[in-house]
Amino acid sequence: MRLNYDQLDIIKEKMGVDKLWSFSKISTYDQCSWLYKLKYIDKIKSRGDNCYTYFGSIAHELIQDFYEDKIKFEEMISKFEDKVLEWQMLDDPKLKFSTDKERDGYIENLRHYFKNVQTVPYKITNEQPVLAIFEGLEKYVFQGYLDSEFLDDEGNLVILDYKTSSISGFSGKQLFKKARQLIIYAIGISQHGRMINGEMRQFPLDKIRIRYDMQKYCNVSFIQKNGKTKTTKAERRQWVAHLANQLRKDLEGVSKDIEKLEKEIGKLKRKSNMKKTTPEEAEGYSVSIGEIQEQIESMKDNLYDPMQINEMIEKATLENSLAVFPKFIQDKYTVENCYIDVELTDEVIEEAREAIISLLDDITVKSKENDKDQAFNRSRIENSESFYCVNLCDMKDHCTFYKEFKEHNTMFVAKNDQPSDDELLAMLGLG
Ligand code: SF4
Repeated sequence: MRLNYDQLDIIKEKMGVDKLWSFSKISTYDQCSWLYKLKYIDKIKSRGDNCYTYFGSIAHELIQDFYEDKIKFEEMISKFEDKVLEWQMLDDPKLKFSTDKERDGYIENLRHYFKNVQTVPYKITNEQPVLAIFEGLEKYVFQGYLDSEFLDDEGNLVILDYKTSSISGFSGKQLFKKARQLIIYAIGISQHGRMINGEMRQFPLDKIRIRYDMQKYCNVSFIQKNGKTKTTKAERRQWVAHLANQLRKDLEGVSKDIEKLEKEIGKLKRKSNMKKTTPEEAEGYSVSIGEIQEQIESMKDNLYDPMQINEMIEKATLENSLAVFPKFIQDKYTVENCYIDVELTDEVIEEAREAIISLLDDITVKSKENDKDQAFNRSRIENSESFYCVNLCDMKDHCTFYKEFKEHNTMFVAKNDQPSDDELLAMLGLG
C-alpha cells in the first residue's frame, strides 16, 4: 500500500514537520554527499533503473505476488523467465550488466530461487507503511515501507527484507550498518504499534525481529563426522560446486569407513578366539561381527572408484543437483533459504540511532548553508570506490567528479598505451 501526496501531507501536519525522511535519502548522503546534492537539492531527475534495480524490483514483486496469492508457486519461475525475455528484447544499454559472466550468474541465481525458495509458513503482509521519529537538531520523521512482515509462533513481529545484492557486507560490524533501514523500521514499530488483522498491537523492540532473505544465495547444511551440523552459504547457481570437496570426501570416505569396520571385525575375531573367552562372550562377538558385516555389505553399494567419483562430481556440478549421487549423500545435505538475522540488542539499536541522527543533523546543517556546492563537496573518486560510481550511480552523467575521474582514467590508459622509447625506435626501424 503506497501513500499518496495528500496522505503524506496529513502525516506531516499531524507530526508537526514540514518534510518526511526516507531511508534512501540518508543512505544517498552516506554514500556520497555530492550525489545527495544532485538528487535532493538540485532535484535532477534520475536516469532511472540500472540492471540491479530493474531485476531487484522484479524479484520483490514475484515473491510478494506469491504471498498475496496473486500467483502460484510454479508461476514465479515462468513469470521470471518472461521478465528475462522482456529485458532481453528491451536491449536497453542502461540496463546492461557490466560483464556477460555477471549477467548469467545473477540470472541463474534468481532462477534457482524462484524454483526452490522455501516459503514462509506464516501469513505475510507486504508493503505496509511505517513511521519512525528521531530527535536531533530537529524532529525527524521517517516514512518507509516494509517488504514483508509476519507474526511468528512466539508472537514476534518479523520484518523480512528481500535482497538481490551481493552478500558481502552482510556480516560482522558492516551488517549493522547495512541493517540501519530495518532498524529504523523496527524503532518505528516499537513507537507506533502495528495493525495486525485489523487490531492495533504494541511490539516492544525485544518482540521485533529483522531478517534478510538473500535471494541469490542459499544455506547448505550437513552433519559432520563429529556429529555437529555445519552450515555454509553458497551462490544458488553453484551450490553443488561450492561443496565439491566435501562431496568428494564423503564418497572417498566410504572405503576408509569399510576398512575401519573390517579392522573392528578382526579385533572381535581375535577376542572371540582367546582362551579366556567364555562361550557366551563368543556368541556375543559373533552377533556383533554379523551386524558389522551387514553394515559393510550395505556400504559396498556406495563404493565408487576415483574415476566414477570424478564423473559424478562433474555431472552434479554441471546440473547443480545431487540427483546423480547415492541416497546417503542426498540425505546428508539440506538446502535452505539464506536468511541473515540481525540481533536487535540495546547496543545495536543505540549505535544505529546515533548514526542516523548524526547523518540527519549533518544534512540539515549543510542544507541551510548558502553555498551548497561547498557544503556538499567531496573528495575526488578513488579507484577503490569507483564501482558504485561506474555501475550504480544514476547521477554520474551530471557529476563533475565522475567526469574528472573518467578523464583521469582515459589519460592514464592513453599514457599506458604509449610505447616506450625503445619500442618507438623499434617501430620506426631504428632500434
Ligand atoms: S558518480 Fe560517484 S561521485 Fe558522482 S555523484 Fe555519483 S556517487 Fe557521487
